[in-house]
Order: sequence, then C-alpha cells, then structure tokens
Amino acid sequence: MSEPKKLTLENLAHLMERRGLLSREQLKDVLARGKSQEARLYSLHYSGASRRKNTGVELVSPSEILASFNLEIPGSHGQVLTVDTITEALASATGLSYLKIDPLKLDLQVVTNHIPRPFALKNLIVAVNELRGVITVAVADPFNEAIIHELAVARRLEIRRVLSSKNDILKILREFYGFRASVLAAEAEVATSIDLGNLEQFFKLKGQQDVESTDKHVISAVDFLLNYAFDQHASDIHIEPKRESSLIRFRIDGVIHNIHVIPKPMHAPIISRIKMLSRMDMAEKRRPQDGRIKTNFNNKDIELRVSTVPVAFGEKVVIRVFDPDILLQDLDSMGFFPRELLLFNSFLRRPNGIVLVTGPTGSGKTTTLYSSLRSLSSPEVNIVTVEDPIEMVMEEFNQIGVQQGIGVSFDSILRNILRQDPDIIMIGEIRDRETAENAVQAALTGHLVLSTLHTNDTASTIIRLLDLGVPPFMISATVLGIVAQRLVRKICPHCKKVRNLSPDECAYLQLPESSYAVWEGAGCKECRGTGYRGRSGLFEVMELNERLKALVSGSAGLAAITAAARQEGVITLREIAINKMLEGVTTYEEVISMTG
Ligand SMILES: [Zn+2]
Repeated sequence: MSEPKKLTLENLAHLMERRGLLSREQLKDVLARGKSQEARLYSLHYSGASRRKNTGVELVSPSEILASFNLEIPGSHGQVLTVDTITEALASATGLSYLKIDPLKLDLQVVTNHIPRPFALKNLIVAVNELRGVITVAVADPFNEAIIHELAVARRLEIRRVLSSKNDILKILREFYGFRASVLAAEAEVATSIDLGNLEQFFKLKGQQDVESTDKHVISAVDFLLNYAFDQHASDIHIEPKRESSLIRFRIDGVIHNIHVIPKPMHAPIISRIKMLSRMDMAEKRRPQDGRIKTNFNNKDIELRVSTVPVAFGEKVVIRVFDPDILLQDLDSMGFFPRELLLFNSFLRRPNGIVLVTGPTGSGKTTTLYSSLRSLSSPEVNIVTVEDPIEMVMEEFNQIGVQQGIGVSFDSILRNILRQDPDIIMIGEIRDRETAENAVQAALTGHLVLSTLHTNDTASTIIRLLDLGVPPFMISATVLGIVAQRLVRKICPHCKKVRNLSPDECAYLQLPESSYAVWEGAGCKECRGTGYRGRSGLFEVMELNERLKALVSGSAGLAAITAAARQEGVITLREIAINKMLEGVTTYEEVISMTG
C-alpha cells in the first residue's frame, strides 16, 4: 500500500491504523471527531491576538490533534498514543530517522547559522547537527521535501532530513534564536561603543547603570536564559568567565551540562543584569554577594537565589532555582510508605510539641517542612518561620530571615517571636543550645514547632539533642516524633527493565533469598541516557511513644533507644530503601550509594 503524500489528520490516522497503533473503531472515532477537535484545540491554544499569518507556528498539527484524543494503543495495556509515538511511526513509514531533540546536545552556532529564523519558523525546521559539511535538519512534516530542496540550493548546503515533533522544533527555535539574537545584538552595541573587547574599561568609563538600564538585548538574553533553564528543570545555572569566553552550564537531576559558550564581552553585562535583578551592589565586584529574584514561569512563581564570587577571569554567578512544584508537594506524593505517612500526619495534627526532620544537606528536608506547613496553613492559623536564609518566599507564612551580620540570630528572633502570637513555628535548623532551648520553650507554651537537625537517623537525633544540652525530661515532654529522610533517584519509566540481583548483591544487602527481580533504566532519550527521572523521598519515622519517652527520661543510650524503636515498629532508612528497590521505584545502585 502506498503511503500518503500530504500530512493530514485523515492520512495520519489511516497510517497509524495500518501500523497497529489505532484500532478500526478508534480510527472511525478520530475521523468523525477530527474537525471539531481541531477547532477546540485551536481556540484553546491561540487567542485572537496571538494569531499570525504565514507561519507554521499557529497551526494545530495533525499529530497534535491525534494525540489529544489520548487513545490507548491496542494491546498495549494502557500505553497512550502520544505525539512522540506518532512522530516515530510517521518517520519509519516515510523512511526518515526519528529524532527526539535533546536541546542540551545542540550547538547554538549550528542551530542559528544556516537557516534564517523566519524561514525556520514558517516551515518548522531546525538545524540540529553539522558533520563534514552535511547539515542535519529536523522537520515536522515529512512531505516538505521541496522546501528543504529550495533551502539546500539557495544556501548551497548538503542537507539530511530527520523527523521531530512540532513542539520539539518550536522549543528550539524559540530558545536558541531568541538567545542568540539577543547576545549578538547586545554584542554589536557594546562593540560600537568601544573598539576593543576590554569591557572592564568600558564600564569604568560609562558606569554600570547606563549599560544596564538601556540595553534591551542584554535584558532579553537573560530572560531567554532563565526561561530555558526553567523549561529544562535545571536546579542550578552557572555563568563562568573564562579567559576568552563565558561558559553557561545547567545542573539537571544532579548532573552538570554545558549549555552555551558566549563571547567574553557579553559576560559582564549579563552578570550585571542578574545582579541588578537580585538587588545586589552592582559596583561591588571583589566581594561575594547573595541576592534573590522572584519570577514567573508558566503561571507559577519561581524563586531564584543568586550568589556571585570573584574568580580569576571575572565574576562567577550561580543561580539556584527553587521550583514550587519541587519544594511544595502533597505529603502523600513525596514517597512516604503508608505507615510512615499516617504517623507523620498524626504529629502535624497535634496542637503543641516538636516535630523534627533530619538528614544530611540535600536530603529534601526543606521540601518536607514547606510541604507540611502548606498542608497546615489556613486562615485560622498563624504560621511563623525563622530561616537562614529564607529558602522560598511564601505569602501564607510569616517568614523571618536570620541576619547574623546585624545581630539578628535564630536565638534573638525566637525570643521575640512568641509575642507575634504564632500557632505554628518553623525553625530552619537547630544548630546550637540556645535555639534548642527556644524550640523547647515554644513547644511548652502551646505551639507546634517544626525544625531540622543534621543527624543520620531518628534515634541518634535524641542523642544530638542531649549533646546540645536539652535535659532528658524536656525531650520527653516536647518531642512528638522524628523523621529521618533521604532522596533516591527514581528509575525512568520510559526505559525501565527488569533484572535479577546476583547472589552477591543479595548477600551484600543481607536479603533472605539469593535472587530477586529488581528494575533499572536502560537509558533513553527521555532521561538523557541516565536511566533516572526525578527523585523520591525515603522516610524513617519514629513516634516518641510512652515506652521511648520513659527510656529517654531515664537517660538510656543510643543502643537501647535504637533497639526499642525497632521493637516499636520503626522501619529503618535502609529497609525502606530496599523496599523501594523491590517495588521498582529505584535501583540497587541507588540503595548502595544512599546507605553508604
Ligand atoms: Zn529513560
């Protein structure tokens, strides 16, 4: 059977049916409802104002319409027909390679040098690779050979086509051409103001404010950069001055990726723009500074914490991204097992007492605290937090930042805070005796206190409090419960595959049997070959019940408390990690690296 020559919904649907991705009934349904679905999608995505003629951007593609039906692929046990699946099938039907575009693998120069932006937008194509004079161009429509031929002739290029989804292509066009255009334009302006590349000199002559407030290109370059980082779910953005250039890198799921290399003269203006946004002292370049930016992406507020340090070739900036979707989660989606969640929730519902969350840096304690406070927040309760520094600014809470420099310490804030009539108090961290005493005092006077400590497990937290000088009977009287937590990486659902633990591995984890089925990620486009996607919390929860209170008051040691906690049903982090592995959430390797 010959394949169609034009990309319409009808052709596409028939093609998918032939490839077994649609059943006969689904095909009929798609053909019957196609037109109205297209109209619905169109009005959903494009309001009248944003409609532009003569570009492929504002059209709803046949693949998008087909995917929007959320149809189950016949015989797939629940797998839904997505744009990616459709594009992949379309590619193989038309003899093209399918490319799921990974923006991190693209080169800014290659993307933007060969194809003019209007032409790329109009035809939804993007250059993704250049190798020995051959340009690989990703296209959204496999039947647009004429356009590509025209381009090849006009620009004297040898072009190879691959097929990608419209959304993937559009994303690249927006991010890369936008950023590139801004950097080039700004560079051109800088270059016309001074002849040499010595921008330091330029700043001294012209002054900071002039460059910052007038250069709209620098402003949009920074906007593009931030949007790109949010889109890629980067947790950190690094902007590093080198001798000849400036390197921009993102940290994504714990791993650093190089993103852009930009001309050196652009480094200082971009840094200045970021310093201005974060309200730093612009003239100060020799001392490290900290600042904060609140911004908006896809209708959600994102908090950025910015820090600058002088390095050999200029100022280096690191921007930490606080995404509310990460910091504020539903407690039941964070990875708690049912018993632990039930216990933890019971602590939070008590009118007074102390709830402690413990773990090393980066174990997700802040997420647990913020998410807990959020679950408790209502117009009737007054929540006050004391943090060093404030991680993310939340309107529902009254947050106070510690400022050691001017004598505003945890201790001094806590002494005054009770006059603010709080119901619930969150103390960022208990580090010293004074803070511990204040926490106890607040709990004794009828407040619910949430805080964190740097300890490894629940039982040793008791010992740490004793070391800080809290009397045993005070611990018994105030501490409701302790949560010890860690984060493990979750296996990518797209490339998850089963394997068997070897007898050695079973022995290492001290498992009763010598073989278990576990899962791991093979590595795919969705997870950038890492086999992991996202992270899940592990929670060990200990309730300070009557038996444990008696032990603590009687000055029992760590071994006795640990043994009693086990008998009272506390499941250790290690056991919880192993359960997560056996359930297919995480891998053997993650369990090993977490449990040391
Ligand atoms: Zn994967």
